[in-house]
Parts: sequence; structure tokens; C-alpha cells
Amino acid sequence: MSGQRYRGGMDPTYSEEGEAYREKIRAFLATNLPDGWHGIGALPGDEVRPFSEQWRKTLHANGLLAASWPEVYGGGGATPLEQVIMAEEFAIAGVPTGTANDVFSIQMVGNTLLNWGTPEQKAHHIPRILSGEDVWCQGYSEPDAGSDLGNLGCRAVLDGDEWVINGQKIWTSAGHLANWIFVLARTDPDAAKHKGISFLLVPMEQPGVEVRPIAMMSGESEFNEVFFTDARCPRVNVVGEINGGWPVAMSLLGYERGEAAATMPIMFRTELDRLVALARERGAIDDPLIRQRLAWCHTKVEIMRYLGKRALTRFLQGQQPGADGAISKLYWSEYHRVVTELALDILGADAMTPAGRWPATSFQADLPGAPNDSASWVGAFFNARAGTIYAGTSQVQRNIIGELVLGLPKEPRARSDSWRDDQKAAGAIAS
Ligand SMILES: Cc1cc2nc3c(=O)[nH]c(=O)nc-3n(C[C@H](O)[C@H](O)[C@H](O)COP(=O)(O)OP(=O)(O)OC[C@H]3O[C@@H](n4cnc5c(N)ncnc54)[C@H](O)[C@@H]3O)c2cc1C
Repeated sequence: MSGQRYRGGMDPTYSEEGEAYREKIRAFLATNLPDGWHGIGALPGDEVRPFSEQWRKTLHANGLLAASWPEVYGGGGATPLEQVIMAEEFAIAGVPTGTANDVFSIQMVGNTLLNWGTPEQKAHHIPRILSGEDVWCQGYSEPDAGSDLGNLGCRAVLDGDEWVINGQKIWTSAGHLANWIFVLARTDPDAAKHKGISFLLVPMEQPGVEVRPIAMMSGESEFNEVFFTDARCPRVNVVGEINGGWPVAMSLLGYERGEAAATMPIMFRTELDRLVALARERGAIDDPLIRQRLAWCHTKVEIMRYLGKRALTRFLQGQQPGADGAISKLYWSEYHRVVTELALDILGADAMTPAGRWPATSFQADLPGAPNDSASWVGAFFNARAGTIYAGTSQVQRNIIGELVLGLPKEPRARSDSWRDDQKAAGAIAS
């Protein structure tokens, strides 16, 4: 996408049909949420997960779990406008749209299968994703392949009707909760780097797959290392062509959709309102420097809202998100580092002895309705450090914006196009 084409206006007006759909969603929420609902974060800590699992079933029964999927596959058949309105209303009500792994199960691999899968793959996997029988995680990153994903070295070799997989993945979020993993594996080490990779669907409940938790600085173990030692999956579990996994993998990363543009500003506004309440509680609201920093955060969330509306306009017009994803990712993740630092300054010494409820999520803001505890903010501060790394680091987002939006020259490549040559140069293999 050139810089010229990227420029665009903003017209996020919703049609009458859209507003009628909003009323339907509000009625659904009023009927199905418990009395006195104040957001998922207001539930006692041990009730968050059971509620989310039960709520997922309610969404599924009402065609609202994978709302955009065709009805023939058990989805809701919702239009893009309906998806956006539903996402807005769910964010305002502070209800989950699924459980922790659904970002991998529904948003990533489910959408990828609908786009690239064979009829047999769709018929087998899609219903099991929706029922929750199969729970997925993402096996992309490796110790030597993060930003430079094309450098991945996990190998898969055909043995009759099965792939045999050996290697390691790392930073596998919620891998300990999953029973399936989608794996990028090198299936032709002699081809050019991006042309020797296949996208495999691998069951995790087998002896050759070992999941080891990684402790984070928050003390949580949200992500894992996953080791494959002669792990196996059927030959037919390749999505796309054998050695043609790269375009499948990239399209999976592109499922940054309209809902995020709609919900992100609502989530960060809710969080900022909590921070203002914290500043009042702690007597910091009259401090001119704190006020100035809160005002800065307010302008950032407002700009995020307008950026979201611009992305939404394009989404509702049926255009591909393009560089919107990189702009939004860079913007919210850098903002979140700053706002959580401000929270710690408001807490002062209490931030060194955090008390109360820790965030129930490792990503972005604490859940809507969460108590304004020091532990909630310290946890969000820790999580915000990771926000500028996962889903592509800030530096990589800047590269994408530089190349795709500003039309700057492509960055020089440090390594060659050949995976085998790079491995030889690094002394990792002899020949
Ligand atoms: C909380 C969390 C959850 C994650 N979950 C998953 C998951 O579920 N599945 C999965 O597969 N992965 C996951 N990841 C991995 C994530 O995608 C990678 O960490 C990320 O892509 C960066 O890769 P890296 O860690 O190898 O860092 P590197 O790529 O080694 O980068 C190191 C530093 O170099 C910079 N850098 C690298 N290349 C360039 C460049 N071309 N130009 C400028 N600067 C550059 C980076 O910005 C960074 O600052 C997760 C990561 C985190 C933190």
C-alpha cells in the first residue's frame, strides 16, 4: 500500500439497520447477564474463568461466539457492521468475547482454516473449535526466530502418511491450556528461506510434545516453551501447500480486524477512568504535574479513538486493514507503558508492596470493573513491558509503517535468503 493510498477520511456512521442490531445486542446482554453486572473484572478472582467458560457457551448458543463465520460452519453470519457493533457493546458492558485461547482458536487458526483449509479440515476442526473441545495455541516464535520469523528451524519430515516434527518453539502463550498447536515448520531446508516452510496442525496430547512454563517477572507463567521430539501429525494436516506455509502464516497475522479498532479505545478509556479515580483516592488529583500527565493520557486515548474510527471506516467499506494494524499496535502499546508508569507514580511507595487483586489477564489493561488495587496496576505495568514485544515489536512496527505508509526504502537484510547457508555460517550445522 503506498503512502498516497493510505490517506483516508473517516465516516464511521452506522446505518439504521446497524442501530437496530445494537438494540438486539443490548437486549441479549440485559437478558443474559446477572443482575448488578459491573464487568468481568468485578467478579471474585476465582469466578472469572468459570464465568468466561459459561459465557462462551451462551455466546455460541446465540450465534455470537464466532459471529462473522458463515452459519453453515456454526458461526453467526454477521456482517462487518454487526461485528463492530457487537464488539463495541461487549466492550462497553465489560463482558468477554470468549476464553483466553480463543484469540488463537477462533481469531487466528479458525479464520485461517476458513480461508485456506480443505473441506475436510474445515469439517473436522471448525465444529471442535466452536464447541471448545479443541483449544489452540500458536507455535511461531523460536529462540532464533522472532522478528525474523523466516529464520525458523523447527523441522518436519514426511514419514509415510505422517509428519515427524523435531525442534523448539518459545513464548507460546496459553500453551499449557491448549490441546492443539499450529506450527510453522521447515519442510525444505534447501529452498529459499520463506519457501521451505509449512503450516502444520499438531495435536499436543502425545509423548513427543513437552510444554515447559516460563516464569514472567509478574510471577505468572502465561507463556511456555514447547519442545517437539519425534512428534507426529497426519500428512493431511498441512494448511495450504507443502512448503507454501509462509503466505498462510502471514494471512493469519493479518486477522487484525475491525473489532479491535472499535474496542481498543473503549478498553483504554475505561482504564484511564480508573486511573483518574485512583488519583482522586490517593489525593494526587490536585498535583499539577500529575494533572498534566493525566491530560496527556486523555489526549492519547482520544487520538486512539480517532485512529480507530479511521480504521473502522475502511473496514466497513470492505478494504483490507493494511498498515492500520501496525499503527494501532505501536500506538496502544507505547501508550500503555506510559499510562501504567503514571499509575505507579500515583501509588508511590505502595507500588513497591503491591496489595489486593492482580490483573486477571496478561495482556493490555486489567479487566473492566477490576478493583482499583495497587496489585492491579503493578501487574498492568509489568504486562505493558511485554506489550511492545508480542505481536511484533515496536521497532518492527516502525519498519512496517516506514515502508508501507511513508514509502521509505526497505531495510537492508542482515542475513542471506538461504536458511541452510545461514545455519552453516553460524556453525549450527556442518553441511
Ligand atoms: C507476552 C508475550 C507473548 C507471546 N506469545 C507468543 C505466542 O503465543 N506464540 C508465538 O509464536 N510467539 C509469541 N511471542 C513471541 C513474540 O512474537 C516475539 O517475542 C517477538 O516477535 C519478538 O521476537 P524476539 O523475542 O525473538 O526478539 P528479536 O526478534 O530477537 O528482537 C530483539 C530486539 O531487536 C529488535 N529488532 C529485531 N529485528 C529488527 C529490525 N529488523 N529492525 C529494528 N529492530 C529490530 C527488536 O525490536 C527487539 O528490540 C510472545 C511474546 C511475548 C513477549
